Amino acid sequence: MIIFGTRGITTTPQRGDFHCPSCAGKQHYALKRVRRFFTLYFIPLIPLDKLGEYVECLSCKDTYKPGVLDYDPAHNALALEAEYHRAVKSVMIHMLLADGVVDDAEVKTAANIYRSVAGREIDESTLRDEIDAAQSSAEDLGATLRALQGGLNNEGKELALKAAFYVAMADGETQPQEQTLLAEVGANLGMSEAHIHGVISSLQSPVN
Ligand SMILES: [Zn+2]
Repeated sequence: MIIFGTRGITTTPQRGDFHCPSCAGKQHYALKRVRRFFTLYFIPLIPLDKLGEYVECLSCKDTYKPGVLDYDPAHNALALEAEYHRAVKSVMIHMLLADGVVDDAEVKTAANIYRSVAGREIDESTLRDEIDAAQSSAEDLGATLRALQGGLNNEGKELALKAAFYVAMADGETQPQEQTLLAEVGANLGMSEAHIHGVISSLQSPVN
């Protein structure tokens, strides 16, 4: 009598280092692959379909989907930072354009605000080019901000709104259309009215 059947065999086709979510740090992993084999007299002979793949952390032994190998916290933090700088810049440019004219003094002020809020350099002629581009493309700030919303944490949203407020205040007082724009900026960033109000009144309160 011929005894045949199938059986799952686990192999380790790949090993390396990854960011383990349970250990919250870099660990060694083994990528495990389970494949069904056709067996004859209990000996696996012919590989059949793949049953699954998973990643095992060799330190805590937790298992994950293979997608976990793509997660790189350092890279994600950088992407988040880039999104945040983009949000701050977009918001500032649209605040500058709110009253229709953008003179050199305003560009200079905006560059200073960007340096202090975003903590990085921007050259005034680059900023001027971006302002001209935004003006001619009539890019919709709402859509830009809504696209950035998911990539920003609360702190990033507050800073983008603060940058907007500083630009609005740069000419001495906030005009009604600037007030409206500030509320819109906050709403498009996904902030509640109370949150927006809180951020703005914290900036308006006199500094002792
Ligand atoms: Zn682990």
